[in-house]
Amino acid sequence: MSPDTDSDDDWTKYADTGYESSYDPWADMVATEDVEEDEFEDEFEDYDEDQISIREIPRCPAPAGIEHAIRIGTCDHCLGRIAGVRIAGDPLDTVGERVRSQALERDPDLKLNDDVDCCPFCEDLFLDLDLISSRISNAIKGIECSKVQLGIHFAKDQIAAEEALRASIAATGSRPLKATLSDVVQAAVANKVPGITWVKERPEVMILFDTLTLGVNVDIRALFLYGRYRKLERGVPQTRWPCRACRGREGGCESCNGTGQQYPYSIQSLVCEPLVERTEAKSDAFHGMGREDIDVRCIGNGRPFVAELKSPLHRTLDLEKLMKEINKAAKGKVEVTGLRYSNRPEVSRIKETQAEKSYTIRFSCEHGLDEEEITKRIHSLSGQTLEQQTPQRVAHRRADKVRKRKVMSIDNIQVVDHEIEFDVRCESGTYVKELVHSDEGRTNPSVAGVLEADCEVIWLDVKDIHAD
Ligand SMILES: [Zn+2]
Ligand SMILES: [Zn+2]
Repeated sequence: MSPDTDSDDDWTKYADTGYESSYDPWADMVATEDVEEDEFEDEFEDYDEDQISIREIPRCPAPAGIEHAIRIGTCDHCLGRIAGVRIAGDPLDTVGERVRSQALERDPDLKLNDDVDCCPFCEDLFLDLDLISSRISNAIKGIECSKVQLGIHFAKDQIAAEEALRASIAATGSRPLKATLSDVVQAAVANKVPGITWVKERPEVMILFDTLTLGVNVDIRALFLYGRYRKLERGVPQTRWPCRACRGREGGCESCNGTGQQYPYSIQSLVCEPLVERTEAKSDAFHGMGREDIDVRCIGNGRPFVAELKSPLHRTLDLEKLMKEINKAAKGKVEVTGLRYSNRPEVSRIKETQAEKSYTIRFSCEHGLDEEEITKRIHSLSGQTLEQQTPQRVAHRRADKVRKRKVMSIDNIQVVDHEIEFDVRCESGTYVKELVHSDEGRTNPSVAGVLEADCEVIWLDVKDIHAD
């Protein structure tokens, strides 16, 4: 507002004459420095007269207030919520209609002002209720959802203008536009789409309705399924892996046979494809509790994972049956157990869990030692803390540093000529192949170190993930 002292003084005078404190007749005034003094006075005179006419009108539910609301074009829904006569149980527009006909009985000449083009409270949004609820119903047609949330977007100044108008003529305690529109839209949609429940948090489907365009945007929240996978075949990556030659481009290339994938299948594709098909999801993501190398199997109880199905059309699933379908289609490459419903927080949980793991590893070694000596030396590593410098094989994608990892226990050491096998349980993040061959001395101590001989890993299995 202009710091002009004259206008400040004038306002003070009017403020003392009993205006509604919440109504600020200056709200729409634009601050300006260079307005001519006499122009300002003229505007002020006009404003003055308007204000006096409004000031003489009492607020609803006074009959004169209701008549004023009708004259300025208030719709039945808005009349129902601002008149201050609502009887519990009746729909707003029914209440509004009744209020209007009572006012007409009192004054048969009561009519709209000439300049009315829409309801000043809702800009005729309630008149579009049927259109709005139809658009929303159509937008969620075919989407299985029981918990739905509605978000309504208004232009900011519309809400402010409605608040100001309500503060000046509505009965005290009348409900705001946004909450009221939300209620009636929800009720209308629930009539059209049986079985939905409106929620305020964690919906399966989020509907965003824009009052400016009457546009409806539907966001189907992802469906999460938890399970464990056993990887029974070597050479299978955990997640899809774009072709190195074509970087996974649409249609692929010659070297990937047009698949765009470096490997014909992955744990992710074997587990998620049947799920995507069943749920009609748009896409999937696969979150494992860590991952094993491509050439490493994962047996025992398997590795925990959460499959994320994005924008699914179906959520009610026969998980036992689906699991059987996955396992059958995977033909012994992968086996899923314990499939159950999950949620996004569990993705973080399994990503963050630092589970100890047990492995079985087999390697060859030109040792020249007897079995007892080998067993004794390998056992000496049990309980030791390893210092592992980032292995050369992963150095291109991991920071080069030394990690300390503890070997919890070593068991079942078996020696068959120059091939040795043992079970080892160790801390999360231990490089187990490097524990054996030492990675040219970058892991210390190591099996190669204690045997004083070169060791070559033949295979490695994850035997168990001690997650829960
Ligand atoms: Zn209205
Ligand atoms: Zn390719």
